[in-house]
Amino acid sequence: MTLRKILIHPDPRLKAKCTPVVDFTTDLAKLADDMLETMYHAPGVGLAAPQIGITERLIVLDCVKEEGGTPEPIIMVNPEVVWESEERNVYDEGCLSIPEQYAEVERPAVVEVKWQGVDGKERNEKFDELWATCVQHEIDHLDGTLFIDYLKPLKRQMITRKMQKLKREMARG
Ligand SMILES: [Zn+2]
Repeated sequence: MTLRKILIHPDPRLKAKCTPVVDFTTDLAKLADDMLETMYHAPGVGLAAPQIGITERLIVLDCVKEEGGTPEPIIMVNPEVVWESEERNVYDEGCLSIPEQYAEVERPAVVEVKWQGVDGKERNEKFDELWATCVQHEIDHLDGTLFIDYLKPLKRQMITRKMQKLKREMARG
């Protein structure tokens, strides 16, 4: 497994509409394993392929946050929300591509998601609480949507400017 570099906003690859995965190869399984390792290392609870510069519809997540909890990694290929609850939930969201920035985002509290495993097999499950927020946040990435796109323009611009500054500092080393 290899740690991948996580792209920082703003980056055109984070705004791309990702293409569906059609080939279920061992390369796909390896890529998913790299993404899980990169996510746990960060650490984070979710990661989408465009965040490592691969504009394909693939996400990984694990929202088990308790210290010493059993990991529950999920790899989703071509995920799709097929049902969402009327009930809404507000979470203080963050993103590995927008480090150290958090903001409240309102989303459906429960969602049903359909996806394929790395073996191409179809799966279907309902998610609530942090899992629901996380899976929606990651699927958004596949359409070039970031959580800051739900914020008021002024707040979004403020965060983007901070990230531009951070990227300049990182480039200088
Ligand atoms: Zn994110």
